[in-house]
Amino acid sequence: MNNDEQLMEKIISLCKTRGFIFQAGELYGGTAGIYDYGPLGSLLKNNIKNLWIKKFVEERRDTYLLDSAIVMGEKPLTASGHVGGFSDPLVSDVKTNKEYRADHLLEEVGINPEGMTIEQMTESLQENNILSPDGNSLGEVREFNLMLKTQLGSSSDSSSTAYLRPETAQGIFVNYKNIMDSMHPKVPFGVAQIGKAYRNEITPRNFIFRLRELEQMEIEYFIHPESWESEFEYWKDEMNEWAEMIGLDMNKLHEVEIGEEDRAHYSERTIDFEFEYPFGQKELYGLAYRGDYDLKKHAEYSKTKLQYTDPQKNETYTPHVIEPSMGLDRTILAILVSAYREDEIDGNMRSYLALTPQVAPYKIAVSPLVKNKEHIVEKANEVFGTLKAEFGNITWDDNGNVGKRYRRQDEIGTPFCVVVDYDTLEEGHVDFGTVSIRHRDTGEQERIAISDLSTYFTNKLS
Ligand code: ATP
Repeated sequence: MNNDEQLMEKIISLCKTRGFIFQAGELYGGTAGIYDYGPLGSLLKNNIKNLWIKKFVEERRDTYLLDSAIVMGEKPLTASGHVGGFSDPLVSDVKTNKEYRADHLLEEVGINPEGMTIEQMTESLQENNILSPDGNSLGEVREFNLMLKTQLGSSSDSSSTAYLRPETAQGIFVNYKNIMDSMHPKVPFGVAQIGKAYRNEITPRNFIFRLRELEQMEIEYFIHPESWESEFEYWKDEMNEWAEMIGLDMNKLHEVEIGEEDRAHYSERTIDFEFEYPFGQKELYGLAYRGDYDLKKHAEYSKTKLQYTDPQKNETYTPHVIEPSMGLDRTILAILVSAYREDEIDGNMRSYLALTPQVAPYKIAVSPLVKNKEHIVEKANEVFGTLKAEFGNITWDDNGNVGKRYRRQDEIGTPFCVVVDYDTLEEGHVDFGTVSIRHRDTGEQERIAISDLSTYFTNKLS
């Protein structure tokens, strides 16, 4: 195993043993491409979602939050092009029948599959003698629709066909009119949504990178067509600011301009934000100028006007759209990769997560130095209660000795450990009325008066 593979193994193992992320259905052998977020993973995820809503909705005047349904009927997804075209090229091993992404097999040998038809992919696989990973011949490439199909009610006619949405974006476009009619926004404005999406990926892999059930954080920002270039630049900066804020290693984040031949036909500009994961540099986020493609399509298929009239200029037009699209699971993976560290402290090896306090599952761990001194435990409990009421996600830890507690909290990324000890309660001692605060990244400790803790942590955690 090389270092990158080892790093990935360590992150996956930490996620499982410390309650961040579990394979879904593990008890029954596991379900490929689907994961459950455990107690700490759920807190981490929630912190990210809350920060996203704070930055992109609460701190702005021009964005609205939406929570649209996951199940979508066939009509809107036909209009958006997903029923006809949301597919990946699939190829099977003729011996084992195992299925692979044809484009990935081509990429692996240095051939760029972008823009190729499925016939050209079949030809290219054959001409270059590309075999399956098991060393067998491959069949013909065919299109495989990635949407998960279901049926509503008992009737099996096509009107009851429904899909689990493949992206959150379409839920925003189909609600454009409702939002215009109820909120009366002025262009430019945005609609932001966080939610689950489903893609029947042929080869889910790389832990939570390529999932079948994923979560997205997307904004559709409706603009006047003339302003698209400056708005695009603006959203590019916003996405970089966001990445920095949540603690991504900015040296590992790269903006990749997508060339004309590789862009969706309706997009005049797309940037992929790629991240250096241990398994290679791959897409983390996308920023696309989608023009008026989606609103026009939904207007056509629903026979409804989806336009905007500028009250000042009295100009009526279909707004264009800039779309910052961010995968939540890939964000979590990129955060974990950015934060994972190993070092030596007090002569012992340790691993820790250098998470920013804003995303850390627990902000503070409180403990009594010893468990068998009632007055110390009582005081520690009092400090814990006060801090918990004010800061929410904090934890109580009195297992093992204090050194072990520090290691455990380091491993899950808790930035501060507060310890109540003998000196806290010894009248006349210089440290009377204070607690020790130990910092995760440096291992350094300082004494802070209990009465100052609230101000201290308000500054550190905001
Ligand atoms: P990829 O090329 O990696 O399949 P994509 O270009 O199809 O991704 P988009 O359709 O642009 O992805 O989706 C927007 C965002 O949703 C992506 O930038 C990514 O963060 C996330 N995402 C997409 N597919 C998956 C998946 N299968 N698992 C986890 N996250 C995903």
